[in-house]
Amino acid sequence: MDAALLQQAIDTMARDLLRAFPPEYWRMTDEARAFPEACFQRAGELGAYGILLPEEHGGTHLGPRALARLIRALHAGGADASPLHAQAVMSGILIRAGASPRLMALLPALATGATRLLSVAATEPEAGLDFSTLATTAKRHDDGWRINGSKIYISFAEHSDWIIVLTRAEEGPTLFAVPRESEGLELRPMRMITNRLTTLLFLDEVAVPDELRIGEPGKGLEILAKGFVMRRILAACEAVGNARFVMDRAVEHARTRATFGRPIGANQGVQYPLAKAACKVYAAELAIEDSLATMERGDPAQAVSSMARLLAAEAAEEATRAAFTAFGGMALASEAHIERKLRENTVYGFDNLLLGLVAERYLGLPKSL
Ligand SMILES: Cc1cc2nc3c(=O)[nH]c(=O)nc-3n(C[C@H](O)[C@H](O)[C@H](O)COP(=O)(O)OP(=O)(O)OC[C@H]3O[C@@H](n4cnc5c(N)ncnc54)[C@H](O)[C@@H]3O)c2cc1C
Repeated sequence: MDAALLQQAIDTMARDLLRAFPPEYWRMTDEARAFPEACFQRAGELGAYGILLPEEHGGTHLGPRALARLIRALHAGGADASPLHAQAVMSGILIRAGASPRLMALLPALATGATRLLSVAATEPEAGLDFSTLATTAKRHDDGWRINGSKIYISFAEHSDWIIVLTRAEEGPTLFAVPRESEGLELRPMRMITNRLTTLLFLDEVAVPDELRIGEPGKGLEILAKGFVMRRILAACEAVGNARFVMDRAVEHARTRATFGRPIGANQGVQYPLAKAACKVYAAELAIEDSLATMERGDPAQAVSSMARLLAAEAAEEATRAAFTAFGGMALASEAHIERKLRENTVYGFDNLLLGLVAERYLGLPKSL
């Protein structure tokens, strides 16, 4: 599709969703710690989950740039599109791995959202970032595999029909698609600062047929890693969208709220922090654009996508801080939507893995983790 038409199609989709699901919808969803059910369904009807999927699997194949534009626009309009982002990218794991016919047959329903695949369960209570010490095991059995272990911080798992679980098999890290309703699988909600609906996940002798294995045994981490560039770019779009959202509100407030006989935005103490944040947002958006272009050329994008994600997180943090100054006391009220975005932005605050990638792949320093 022609680039201008593509942008128009995505902008129309974002406008439709934001009109039906304005910031107030997201405030209430967040306060109730609820899944954004109605918005999730509507996004499926509009084709959001098929953007990366080839047409033969029920998608529209509009591509990464289109999905990035959608996620950024939704966040810039006050949404928390993280579950939409998850559903739109997970089917890529099945395709990249060359999954079994049974799993590939799920793709058209994933494209509409009728079947939900929102969760990857990789992190473990003991292993944390260190996947070389995974304790969740997958052992061969007469009729397939038995999985035992536990996972932590798994986003949206209670709302996902399938969960992709990273295990340790004899050959090394191995992925399985596990139905949420499997016998022996238990989820325990874990309330966190933001509405990612995280859970603990326990697997006790969970029986999985071989056709639910994703890719070769031992290749689980490689399969996941192939999607990291896209996920980082989309996380950067969420963060930079959040930055735009709070900036727009803060600038409007600074223009219209008057104390001491003039708009508060006429004061340097209010406008300079907003100007500094605007510079960071600008830099982050350029980095996202460059990451997309690098990916589209087929060049290695690990370092640039990490930089984009780091810059976007900084932009979101700085914009939220500037919005606090502009709004004063009102910034702490949920009605202003600033404190919600402040909490949401904490999920982009884990930097070390990304800094390690920039040090290694961009600066050529020794691998640190
Ligand atoms: C809201 C939320 C949602 C999440 N959703 C999911 C999900 O859906 N699926 C999933 O699998 N995981 C999920 N995670 C887990 C997330 O990916 C982990 O937090 C992350 O992998 C790190 O694990 P950890 O928190 O146990 O930190 P640890 O590994 O214990 O590390 C603690 C700190 O030390 C730093 N650190 C550790 N080792 C090194 C080193 N060698 N060099 C430099 N710094 C180091 C880390 O960067 C971190 O800051 C989620 C987390 C959050 C907060």
